[in-house]
Amino acid sequence: MKVINCPGCLRPGYETYCNNCLKKLADGKKISHILSFTRPEFNKLKRAQSSRLSISGIQIKHSLKLVNRELLLTDEKGEYILKPIPSGLFEKLEQVPANEHLTMQIAEQVFGINTAANGVIFFKDGEIAYITRRFDVLSDGRRLLQEDFAQIAGRTEETHGKNYKYDFSYEEIAGLMKLNVKAYAVEIEKFFKVIIFNYLSSNGDSHLRNFSLYRNEKYGDYLLTPFYDLLNTSIHVPGESDLALDLFKEGFVTEAYKAGSKYTKPDFAEFAERTGINEKRFNKIFDDMVTNIDKVKELISKSFLEEKIKEDYLESYLTRLERLKF
Ligand SMILES: [Zn+2]
Repeated sequence: MKVINCPGCLRPGYETYCNNCLKKLADGKKISHILSFTRPEFNKLKRAQSSRLSISGIQIKHSLKLVNRELLLTDEKGEYILKPIPSGLFEKLEQVPANEHLTMQIAEQVFGINTAANGVIFFKDGEIAYITRRFDVLSDGRRLLQEDFAQIAGRTEETHGKNYKYDFSYEEIAGLMKLNVKAYAVEIEKFFKVIIFNYLSSNGDSHLRNFSLYRNEKYGDYLLTPFYDLLNTSIHVPGESDLALDLFKEGFVTEAYKAGSKYTKPDFAEFAERTGINEKRFNKIFDDMVTNIDKVKELISKSFLEEKIKEDYLESYLTRLERLKF
């Protein structure tokens, strides 16, 4: 077998997922990083299983289930989500799986952000896909009670129009957290960290549905779920806005933003203040986020992105980092 970087954590010198990643992805069961089918075979199976495939859905998420160490397509009780290369009008789409994987790994390994277990995986003919383990499936098969912030805010396409996921602000999400999360002081810092990370990694699609709360069974209170769907969108949608949502509610902008039309450190400081993160904690979190560039570089270089896109990824990261330095 070919020696590769672990398709989970990207550590070099493995033939498949390392033991640590197997633990995270499959409780230690030896799953292969090569699926037993090709994408066309998979799509055929998918069509056969779904009697009501909607015409609009060039579905890009599929459910998989682990059956005797093999990951197979399933209609119900999915334990994994498989995201093959999407189709559409955007650029470099064949790089999306490696991009999402890298972004999720940087979040976790460099910044300690709690993310859904994930890896890249390959169809039988070598085509890459992204795989993530569903964190809402409990060990006894039951589902975790969770709601995304579109649901929590009571926003749907019917009630708020096509843009319902985007016509909102991160400050308002923080407001909803304050109402619903007892451990707000701890959870708001996690949320804040991810917003800074999204900014650094040029994730311009981090909308309302990409944040969720779940009910902690033991204490009955609500906490943030692991983060998911982190991706450098600038590679695929050049010129996209800096963040999917405004930082502040009601159109507020800081003086610094007025001067440069870009978010810089004073914006994030203002956000921290408005959401109850004290100055000392703000400085600590912010400083952690703007250092560690060497670790980010290392993961980019080990990733499954093609060489040219690795350069683009790093360049976009450095551009954002530069903006946060003053
Ligand atoms: Zn690994």
